[in-house]
Amino acid sequence: MPLELKSTLNLPKTDFSMKANLPHNEPKMLARWEQMGLYESIRRARKGSPRYVLHDGPPYTSGPIHLGTAMNKCLKDFIVKSKTMSGFDAPYVPGWDCHGLPIEIKVDKELGGKKLKMRPTDVRAECRKYAQKYLDLQREQFKRVGVFGRFDRPYSTMTPQYESVVLETFFSFYENDFVYKGLRAVYWCMHDETALAEAEVEYENHTSSTVWVKYALLDDPAKIDPALAGQKVSTIIWTTTPWTLPASMAVAFHPDEEYAAIESCGEVYIVASKLAKEAAEKCGLGETRALAHFPGRKLERLNFQHPFLDRKVLGVLADYVTMDTGTGVVHTAPSHGAEDFSTGVKYGLDATSHVDEKGILRDGLPEYDGMRVWDANQPILDLVKKRGALLHTEKTEHSYPHCWRCHNPVIFRATEQWFISMETPMPVGSGGGRGSDNDTLRTRTLEEIKKVKWDPAWGEERLSNMIETRPDWCISRQRVWGVPIAVFLCESCGKPLNDRSINRKVVELFARSGADAWFTPESENLLPAGTKCPHCGSTKFEKETDIFDVWLESGASYLALISEEKMADEPEYPWPSDLYLEGGDQYRGWFQSSLLCAMGTRATPPYRGVVTPGWTLDETGRAMSKSRGNDVDPVDIASRLGGEIVRLWTASVDFREDVVGSEALMQRVGENYKKIRNTFRYILSNLSGFDPQKDAVPFDQMEALDQYMLRETCAFAADVRRWYDEFAFHRIYQRVNHFCIVDLSAFYFDVLKDRLYIFAPHSQARRSAQTAIWRIGEALVRLLAPIMTFTCEEVWQHLPKVVAAPIDADVEDANVEDARLAAFARAESVHLALFPTDADILGTESRASAPGPSAEKGFGKGTALEPALSASRRVPSERTNNGALAPEARDGDWATLRSVRDEVLKALEEARNNKLIGGGLEAQVLITATDALYSVLRRYEDQLRYLFIVSAVTLAQGSGNGTGGVHVEVKKADGAKCERCWNYSTHVGEDKTYPTVCERCSAVLKEL
Ligand SMILES: [Zn+2]
Ligand SMILES: [Zn+2]
Ligand SMILES: [Zn+2]
Repeated sequence: MPLELKSTLNLPKTDFSMKANLPHNEPKMLARWEQMGLYESIRRARKGSPRYVLHDGPPYTSGPIHLGTAMNKCLKDFIVKSKTMSGFDAPYVPGWDCHGLPIEIKVDKELGGKKLKMRPTDVRAECRKYAQKYLDLQREQFKRVGVFGRFDRPYSTMTPQYESVVLETFFSFYENDFVYKGLRAVYWCMHDETALAEAEVEYENHTSSTVWVKYALLDDPAKIDPALAGQKVSTIIWTTTPWTLPASMAVAFHPDEEYAAIESCGEVYIVASKLAKEAAEKCGLGETRALAHFPGRKLERLNFQHPFLDRKVLGVLADYVTMDTGTGVVHTAPSHGAEDFSTGVKYGLDATSHVDEKGILRDGLPEYDGMRVWDANQPILDLVKKRGALLHTEKTEHSYPHCWRCHNPVIFRATEQWFISMETPMPVGSGGGRGSDNDTLRTRTLEEIKKVKWDPAWGEERLSNMIETRPDWCISRQRVWGVPIAVFLCESCGKPLNDRSINRKVVELFARSGADAWFTPESENLLPAGTKCPHCGSTKFEKETDIFDVWLESGASYLALISEEKMADEPEYPWPSDLYLEGGDQYRGWFQSSLLCAMGTRATPPYRGVVTPGWTLDETGRAMSKSRGNDVDPVDIASRLGGEIVRLWTASVDFREDVVGSEALMQRVGENYKKIRNTFRYILSNLSGFDPQKDAVPFDQMEALDQYMLRETCAFAADVRRWYDEFAFHRIYQRVNHFCIVDLSAFYFDVLKDRLYIFAPHSQARRSAQTAIWRIGEALVRLLAPIMTFTCEEVWQHLPKVVAAPIDADVEDANVEDARLAAFARAESVHLALFPTDADILGTESRASAPGPSAEKGFGKGTALEPALSASRRVPSERTNNGALAPEARDGDWATLRSVRDEVLKALEEARNNKLIGGGLEAQVLITATDALYSVLRRYEDQLRYLFIVSAVTLAQGSGNGTGGVHVEVKKADGAKCERCWNYSTHVGEDKTYPTVCERCSAVLKEL
C-alpha cells in the first residue's frame, strides 16, 4: 500500500504493551497502591454502606506460605473485592496465629540446654521473635499476590489486646461454671510433653504387640453358674498396649452380650460366645467344651487376679465392649484410656497415672520400672509369660492416634487438666434462641449450627456429628509459649480461685502489658491483701502455669477483632460476621473452637456462613508437600509468571472440590491470561483519540451490531455478578474466556476492523464502534478487577481519561448535561469503582439518578444498593432501521446471523484450501436460504458483507436443503482490489483523484 494511503487508515495505537511483564510490573503497582493508601481509600469510600465482613482465619506463623494458603487468601480477596464493587463496605483484617507448640519446639532446638537457665519471659521473647519473622514474611507474600487488607494493623494472637480477650473469653466460661479442673485421661504426646486436643491428633498406622492374657477368677465360680462349681476359672483379655497392664484395674464385659465358659485341658475360660472359637484358636486351647452360657452382667463385681501384681481386678460392665475382634473382654486401665477413665469413675477405680510426662513408667516392678512405655512392652510380656498368664502374642498393624505436630504415637494419660464442660446447663435466655431448660452447651450449639449457611452443605452434618460426640474441651497445655491460664491456686488445697474482680484486674493487666506480665511479680500484686481460699481458708496462693490450648486462642479471634480499639473513622464490626472460609480440617479446629467460644460468650455463632475449599493436590492426586517435592510454590510462580497467574489459577479451579496445581497448569493459565490481555489491548488501541465526553454516540443512534454487542455485554455482566454472589469463580473464569475469545476476538472485533480502520475518524459509524468497545472495556475492567487485580488497574490507567464531574450530592437538580458528564467521571483506581449496571453498559441512563451512597460518580453502581438489578432491564426505544422489532427479537436475529456467519467462514476456508481465493475479501458469496432465514438475512442485507468480511453478498430464497437451512457458494469477487481497504469493487478507478481506491474509500479520503 502506498505510504500516503496507509497514513489515512486509523491503525491501532496504544502504550498498553502486549507483553505483560508481570514479575517486573506488579511490584511497582503494589508500591503505587501503598503510596496512595488504596485500602484506606476504599474504606473511606464505602463508609456508611451496608457492611459485609469476611473474618480471616489466622494461618500459623512457622514458615512461608504454600499454594493452599495462597489460594485461601486469593479466594477471600475475590469475595472481599467483589462485595466492595457491589457497593458493600467490606473490610478485611488479616490475622495470624502466633502461639503454640511448633514454634516453641523450634525455639527449644535453637536454644538447646541454654533454655533450662532462662526465665519463661526470655524464652517467650525468643518465640515472639520467631513468630514475628514469619508473620512479616507471610504478610509480604500475601500482598505480593495482590491481596488487599488492613496489613499494617493485622490481628495477631500475641498482642496484649488479643491476649487479654483470650483470657476474658476464658473468664466468661469460668465465671458461668463451664470450667472445671480435674483428673482426666487425655491424649498425651510424651515427645512434646503436653496434653493434646482431639483436633491435634491424627490417625496413622502403627504396629503393636498384641497379647492375650489370662486373669484368674478369685471368687467362687458357682456364683456365675452352678455348672462351674469347683472349676479353675479365668477370663482372657486382649490388648494392643501391654505397657498399660501395670495400670489394669478392671476387666470389662458387655452387659447384654452372651459369654461362654469353655473348658480345655482341665481349665475353664470365660470369653464372649461370638468370639469363643477365634479366641480358642489364637490361644491354642485345642478341643474345647462349653460348660455354661450367661450374659455379661453376671460377671459384674467379681474379682480377678492381676497377672503379675498383687492386685484384685474388678469385673465391670461397659457398653463399648465390641464383639468384632479380641475376646469380648476388655482390660481396663482408667489412667490410660478415655472410656476406661469414665468406667473408672463409675466404679470408683484408682486413675492415678504411673506414667510420667516423658512417658516413663514409675513405681512399678523392677522388670519395667523407669522404662519408656514402648520399651516396656517386651519386659512386661516376658513377665506375663513367666507368671504363666500369657496365652498368645502377635504383631498387629492398626490405626493409632499420633501427634499431628511431631507425628509420634500418642498415649492416653490421666492428668490434672482444665476443661470446658459440654454438659454445662445453658437455659433459655442466655442468647435468646429457642430451647428448653434442659439445654446444655452441647445441645444449644447443635441448635445454632442449623442456623448457619454451610457451603458445601455437608459442613452442617460434619460439625454437628463432631459436637454431638466430642468430649469436654481440654483447654490446658503444659507449655510456655501461649496465653497462661491466669488463675490463682490455693497452696494448701490446690483449688482455683474464681473472683470476678480479681479476674478483671488480670484481664486489664494483660491488655496493658501482655500475657508476659503473668510471669512477673506484677501479677502477684493483683491479689488483694488478706484474700482467703473460700474452700480451706488458706491465705497462700500460687499461680497456675499451664497455658491455653491454642484453639481457644484462635477461637476468640472475632471476639478480639470486634473489641479492639477502633481508629477514629472506623465503624464497629457487626456480630456475627458474614463469612468464615477455611479448609475442611477446620471443622475439628477453628470452625469448632470459634463456635464454642462464641456460644460461651454471646450464645450465638460468630458467623452467618461458612465456606470450605478443597485440598490442593498434584497432578497425580497426591497431597502437595515440600518434602515430597511435588509442591507448587506460589511465591516462585509470582516471581516467574506473576502474582496475577496465581490469582487466575485460583479462579480457574472449582475450589469446593479438591484442586490440582502444577507448573503445566500455571503455564496454561498464563496462555489464557495473554488472550484476555489482548482483548483489552484491542480495545485500548482502538480508542486512541477517542474522547468519551465529545465522541460517545448515544445508544439509540448506534449501529445495530454495536447495540447487540452491548446487550450481550449486559448478559455477560449479569452472569458474572451473579457468580460472584455465589462464589462461583471458576464459572466466571470460563465465561470470561469464552466472551473474550469467541464473542469478542473471533466475532465482534474481527468484524469491527473494517469500520475502525477504514472509516473516517469522526464518522458516526466509527464512533459508534468506539463507543461500544469503550463501554465494553469499562465493563470488563470492573467485572474482572476482583480477580485480575493488577492487570485491570493497568487497563484502568490506559482507558480514555475523563474529567471528574463538577457536580456531587445534589444531582436531582442538576441539568441533563451535568448528569451526562457525571456518568463519565472515574475513580483513581479501578478498585474504588463499582460493578457496572446494564444502564452503565448501554449508556442509557444517567448514573446521577443512582439511589443511596456511592463512592464513584461513575460507571456502575452498587448492587448492594440495588439488589433487583437484572440483565433484562429497560432499554430505551431505539431508532434504527430495525426499529419495529423488540430488542429480544433483534438479538435472536443476531444469533441467526452469527450462525450463518459460521457457515460462510467454513465455505471460505474450503475455497481458500482449493486455491480459489486468497483472503476472504477476494470472495463474493451467494447465500441461498429458506423462508425464515431468508427474511432475517434480507433485513440485514447491506451489512452482511462486513459481517462475513467478504467483498459482496448476494441473497437468494430457496430450499437450502440439508445444510441447516442455508447454502453458501463462494466465487471470486467482481471488480478490482481497492488499495486502501483491500475490498474488491467494480467501482475502483472511477474517482480520478484516487484512481486505486473503491467508492467507499474515495468518499472517506474526500472527507479527510
Ligand atoms: Zn508431639
Ligand atoms: Zn484452699
Ligand atoms: Zn476501499
